[in-house]
Amino acid sequence: MTRDSEEQFSLQTRLLHHQHKIDKASGAVSVAIQPASTFHQEGLDDFGEFDYARSGNPTRQALEETFAEMENGTAAYAFSSGMAAISTTFMMLSAGDHLVITEDVYGGTFRFTTEVLTRHGIEHTFVDMTNVDEVKKAIQPNTKMIHMETPSNPTMKITPIREIVSLARENGCLTVLDNTFMTPVLQRPLDLGVDVVVHSATKFIGGHSDVVAGLAVVKDTDLANRLKFLQNSFGAILGPNDCWLILRGMKTMHTRMEASSKSAMQIAKWLTEQPEVERVYYPGLEDHPGYAVNESQADGPGAVLSFELTNREAVKQVVDAVEIPVFAVSLGAVESILSYPAKMSHAAMPADERSKRGITDGLLRLSVGLEKAEDLITDFKQAFEKITR
Ligand SMILES: *Cc1c(COP(=O)(O)O)cnc(C)c1O
Repeated sequence: MTRDSEEQFSLQTRLLHHQHKIDKASGAVSVAIQPASTFHQEGLDDFGEFDYARSGNPTRQALEETFAEMENGTAAYAFSSGMAAISTTFMMLSAGDHLVITEDVYGGTFRFTTEVLTRHGIEHTFVDMTNVDEVKKAIQPNTKMIHMETPSNPTMKITPIREIVSLARENGCLTVLDNTFMTPVLQRPLDLGVDVVVHSATKFIGGHSDVVAGLAVVKDTDLANRLKFLQNSFGAILGPNDCWLILRGMKTMHTRMEASSKSAMQIAKWLTEQPEVERVYYPGLEDHPGYAVNESQADGPGAVLSFELTNREAVKQVVDAVEIPVFAVSLGAVESILSYPAKMSHAAMPADERSKRGITDGLLRLSVGLEKAEDLITDFKQAFEKITR
């Protein structure tokens, strides 16, 4: 397909039919895995496109070009993990700069901001990113970047992306958005004016709990050059085998997101009707405070939800009793994953900070996979019956 014809098709189709769907050298209907670390040069004055594989590798290039297109960007960069993508993006900041960052940011990003950036003279302020006035007040003359995550983890708070972008533009700061929970299937932040979109491709993009990877995507060519330079300088690139796994995961990403989101909606609604459940956090529910904002900026609420049981004991009984979901950290896989934020993603946070953010000892997070929704409901139903009253 030519680029023009590609643009007439939806993302669902373009994830399968893109510029790298057929290997030009062999006709193979799969991107070739190229493990070489170095590339032969024809002569002193005749260097080829690739020289050393940290700087560029054909398998990685196929992933980066394909993903950039899916996010409606001009360039994407693949990293050895989501944290490598995020920390490399933060390297655009210099000593003396200030970062405004969402208070319920991913734990690894929290750690990098508070324990690494601070040692390099980069200041930060945590804000409730759903509150535009609070963000406005946090901006200082040296603020150079605003980091968003929406929906946020684990209480699924929704950031009004367009409003934060216009605030950032008025103040000359870059915007970064962690789009891990949504993927370009459900949310395309570059179209809303965000400068850099980052992903943990370990989650819904890879989709099968079998690869750790990260991606950063931009539209602006100057930003693309800066990120490429940092990717090569920092060196946290994604290896060719893992690039291939991510490319393969992308082929089913649309179908997986659609099916998992549909089940998540069904399960969220069911959970709201259960007497054992005190609260459900899911942006697809009309009474979720971010429902309307999410509707205005995303194509769906996603496949992750959280719910609160009365206490830790009830959580323990349910975790022991469920048979289908994997009890683990992480999310975004074909199998449903049940996590306990208080002891997993937010274990490092003091208890009072946690409860301020709604991360109580009764809170469970569910990343809905591809099982039949009714089976998951049956499973939770029998598990809830084990709670002693
Ligand atoms: C998992 C995750 C990350 C970190 O990604 P890794 O691939 O584990 O390094 C960053 N942001 C969010 C929202 C995540 O869920």
